[in-house]
Amino acid sequence: MHPFTVIFLTAFILHSLVQTWLAMRQMKHVRDHRNAVPAEFSAVITPAEHAKAADYTVAKQRLGILELVVDGAILLWLTLGGGIAWIGNLAASIGIPPLWTGVTHVLGVFAVLSLLALPLSAYRTFVMEQRFGFNRTTVGVFVADLFKGWLLGALLGGVMVAAVLWVMQSTGPYWWLVAWSVWIVFSLLVTWAWPRLIAPLFNKFSPLENPALRERIDALLERCGFHASGVFVMDGSRRSAHGNAYFTGLGREKRIVFFDTLLSSLTPVQVESVLAHELAHFKLKHVPKRLIGGAALSLVGFGLLGWLSRQDWFYTALGAASHTDASALLLFVFAVPAFAWVLSPLLAAWSRRHEFEADAFAARHSDGTELAHALVSMYKDNASTLTPDPLYSAFHDSHPPPAARVERLLPARSPDARAAVAAA
Ligand SMILES: [Zn+2]
Repeated sequence: MHPFTVIFLTAFILHSLVQTWLAMRQMKHVRDHRNAVPAEFSAVITPAEHAKAADYTVAKQRLGILELVVDGAILLWLTLGGGIAWIGNLAASIGIPPLWTGVTHVLGVFAVLSLLALPLSAYRTFVMEQRFGFNRTTVGVFVADLFKGWLLGALLGGVMVAAVLWVMQSTGPYWWLVAWSVWIVFSLLVTWAWPRLIAPLFNKFSPLENPALRERIDALLERCGFHASGVFVMDGSRRSAHGNAYFTGLGREKRIVFFDTLLSSLTPVQVESVLAHELAHFKLKHVPKRLIGGAALSLVGFGLLGWLSRQDWFYTALGAASHTDASALLLFVFAVPAFAWVLSPLLAAWSRRHEFEADAFAARHSDGTELAHALVSMYKDNASTLTPDPLYSAFHDSHPPPAARVERLLPARSPDARAAVAAA
């Protein structure tokens, strides 16, 4: 066995063990706290709601472990099992020009992957989410989403892969630097176009109409000196009862989006405070910081790919017989996560810091107490656990644990007073 095969397998096994261990910890911690609502939430979250959130969290973790096993088996088949090479041979047997053979090879692998992911995805929507009363996706919507997603993936992915493979063939030893630039331009373009051209393929977006709310929001935007192309309501209720709010786009195309499911459960001042939190991500430059962080990471990635693609052992150790550019790209994409997962706690911690900063900004420019109420209402409606395992949360969660967020928003009060406030 090649030494790199051993290194890859070791990293892969370590990754699987750590993920499983964290998921088990999360299930145990949530189960252990299932029957007692934390004091600071006990006035607003009933024991039944708390137990439902625990059961939902455990069900999601169970499915997560099953996915880990399935994905792991697929990864081993694609790499050491020769799956990538096999699909490459199929693509080569069509007899089209090399560049298009490469594109077919890469898209073919992703097509196989999405077919294999289908059963668990359907199970998640129609069995698990259904069981907890969240699913509103019909079979028709599910199938339409699938085809739209495939078409979009083939189109955007096809253009990107064709561009990178062309650059690999045609631009000399520093091709990875050129490919990285192409990647950056492409991702900026997609981010810019997403709200206007792509998201509407899946959802309906309408400008926020409610006049009283509108007035409140315009005043907030004015106070914060913020220019956006609008605040929109998305028909999230078409697919699920989960509610959320997010920001999207770049430059003049940036938008703030509320799920209709969220709007229906918050008061106007709570909507304003949630909006202030989202605005903070723009005003505090979290968006460009994340873009620059992502660009730096992808530069390292492309540099690594540039070097690995010239090493014979990279192909042979990972089960690819032919040293094509498409195999280099695919092996890289599938082998890197076995190593790069060590970065995920750092990225999660970075994201949680941004969330705390955005909460503080919202408290300054809107109403921190109302934001706390809005958060509790979202935790309740989404059956989010209030008692995550600290280690699991530190490793995975992009948002701080509920108790920590609420405590910072309602700092000067004792837990009992906080509960009373939350109940008000
Ligand atoms: Zn946020």
